[in-house]
Amino acid sequence: MRAGRRRARRGVAAARLGTARPCLPHGHRSLDRPRGVRPRTHHPHRSPQLNAEPADQIRLLDVQALDVRLTQLAHRRANLPEHAEIESLTADLAQVRDLLVAARTEESDTAREQTKAEQDVDQVRKRAARDQQRLDTGAVTSPRDLENLQKEIASLARRQSDLEDVVLEIMERRESAQERAAELARRVESVQARTDEAVARRDAALAGIDTEAASVTRERQAVAATIPEALLKLYDKLRGQQGGVGAARLYQRRCEGCRLELNITEVNEIRQAPADEVVRCENCRRILVRTPESGL
Ligand SMILES: [Zn+2]
Repeated sequence: MRAGRRRARRGVAAARLGTARPCLPHGHRSLDRPRGVRPRTHHPHRSPQLNAEPADQIRLLDVQALDVRLTQLAHRRANLPEHAEIESLTADLAQVRDLLVAARTEESDTAREQTKAEQDVDQVRKRAARDQQRLDTGAVTSPRDLENLQKEIASLARRQSDLEDVVLEIMERRESAQERAAELARRVESVQARTDEAVARRDAALAGIDTEAASVTRERQAVAATIPEALLKLYDKLRGQQGGVGAARLYQRRCEGCRLELNITEVNEIRQAPADEVVRCENCRRILVRTPESGL
C-alpha cells in the first residue's frame, strides 16, 4: 500500500516536474535513476553530502508547507480572541459577584438594624401606653407626680417620633440595598450568559482547529512517508533549529528561508551541483530546493 502510494505520488511529482525540466540546468541525471539518499564519500573534506531525487526535494517543500500550516494552526489555537475575552469576562464576573455579596450583606444587616430599631420604637410606645393608662385610671393624684407623668408622656412621644425617623431612614437604606442586590443579580446573570456564550464559541473554534490540524497531520504523514528517511531527518533537525523552517525554495537566486540573495559564487556552485545533490543555504544552512524559478 505504501509502495503503491509512493509510486502514485512519484508519478504526480514527476508530472509536475515534467513541465519544469527544460528549465533545469544541463547535465542533470534523469528522474528515473534509482531512488534513495546515500552519503557521498568522495568529498572527505565536506560534511557528509546527501543526495535525493529532485522530486523528493520538491515534495519536501510540500511537507514544509504543511508544517507551516500546523504551526499557524497552533498559533491560532493559542491566540484565539475568545481566550482574552473569557479571561476578561471571568474577572468581571468575580467582581460583580463580590459586589452582589456585599449588597446582600448590607441588605441583611439593614434588616437586622430595622428589627432592632422597631423594637426600640415598640418599647417607647409600650412605656408611653403604660404611663397613659396610669394617667387615665386616676391612680396618680399628686399634682407634682401628675405633672411629671405628663412630661414623661410628652418626652416619650418625641422619643418615639425620633426613633420612627430612624426606622424610616433604615428602611430607605434597606430598600436601596435590595435594589442594588437585584440589579447586581441581573448583571451576574448577564455576564455569566456572555461568558457561557464565549466559552461555547471558543470550544467550537478549538474543535474546528483540531479537526483541521488532524487532517493536515494526516496529509503531512502521507507526504513525509514518501520522502527518503535521511532527507526527512535532516529537514526535521534543521526545522527544529531554524524556527520551524528546515527547507526553503531557491527562488530568483534568493533563499526563501533567510531571504538573502545568493552571491555569484554560490549561484555557480549550485548551478554545477548535480540535480540530486541536496544543497544548503550558505547563510542559514537550510535545505535549498531548486525549482524552475530558481534563476540558475
Ligand atoms: Zn537561507
